[in-house]
Amino acid sequence: MEKRYDVIIIGCGPSGMTAGIYAKRAGMNVVILEKGAVGGQVVLTPLIENYPGFEKISGFELSQKMYQQVISLGIDVDFVEAEKVEVLEKEKQVITKNVTYIAPTVILSMGASSRTLGTSDIKNFIGKGVSYCAVCDGAFFKDKVVAVVGGGNSAFQDIEYLSNIAKKIVHINRRSQFRADETNLNRYMNLVKQENSKIEQKLGFVVEKLCGEDKLESVEIRNLDTSETENIKIDGLFVAIGRVPQTELLDKSLKLDQAGYIETDDNMQTNIEGVFACGDIKTKFLRQIATATGDGAIAGTNASIYVKKYKQGK
Ligand code: NAP
Repeated sequence: MEKRYDVIIIGCGPSGMTAGIYAKRAGMNVVILEKGAVGGQVVLTPLIENYPGFEKISGFELSQKMYQQVISLGIDVDFVEAEKVEVLEKEKQVITKNVTYIAPTVILSMGASSRTLGTSDIKNFIGKGVSYCAVCDGAFFKDKVVAVVGGGNSAFQDIEYLSNIAKKIVHINRRSQFRADETNLNRYMNLVKQENSKIEQKLGFVVEKLCGEDKLESVEIRNLDTSETENIKIDGLFVAIGRVPQTELLDKSLKLDQAGYIETDDNMQTNIEGVFACGDIKTKFLRQIATATGDGAIAGTNASIYVKKYKQGK
């Protein structure tokens, strides 16, 4: 079965939804394709305090508000997995299991997924102690001992969130320098400095091995300075070590940077005419919700201009 649109957007996170809003309001017939949950990585964020207009809001709630706006504008959202993007002579097509979507333009806003640890045994413990989402799974670890790996904003927010649930949090990071911003860092330091702090720091350590019979029981960590290993007993391991761009379904001709992010110009135009990219999937200085929505507005507007010209030339 084929479905035709003016603009196909792949990914229903903040950038994709904003692109949809702008394209729809420019008169385009728009579909957003989403393989998972609305909001993408944002729903993993317990508390957002730097998105203008909302002093404090959870990632889930903000995503739902954006989604309601998308739906109320009459944008189609199809919950299907895009398997392949093909660039035809004039149009683009996106292949899914049952439907082929065709349009003059495609906006790529698939974002980035959670990076996993290098240990091959981690897959045995997903849902059995290992999690990539403190907001989703934290409640399972009430009064238990957990570890959080990572030193960026995600790890710090996970630690803060889990500090209200878990008995103890072992913070493992491969360096003693952090990537988290000043606000998250200050909050973390306040938790660390508290009397009877729940946080035990293991800085300069990496997770070497996950151990357990039916579920995670402990992890072996290695001190990067001394190479000595130690085994720490934990009930849960939260991995927050960054993200990797979701570019697998793309045509090889699409230009990526060295880290695998899509290169665009200021108009969010990729090197392929009529293919735009916005949000975390593209090369950029700052990956935030505010910058994702900014990208989305530009991509949605320029995709609409492209479609209008395309229709005039047809
Ligand atoms: P991030 O900022 O890239 O930090 C990743 C952390 O994991 C770093 O400490 C890094 O160590 C470590 N790491 C990377 N690969 C590793 C590996 N293989 N093994 C062990 N440790 C590893 O990632 P993030 O915290 O997920 O954030 C991603 C983006 O979203 C960032 O731009 C962040 O600012 C943004 N974000 C913002 C907020 C907010 O509220 N402002 C909240 C969440 C996320 P090194 O430092 O040694 O590389």
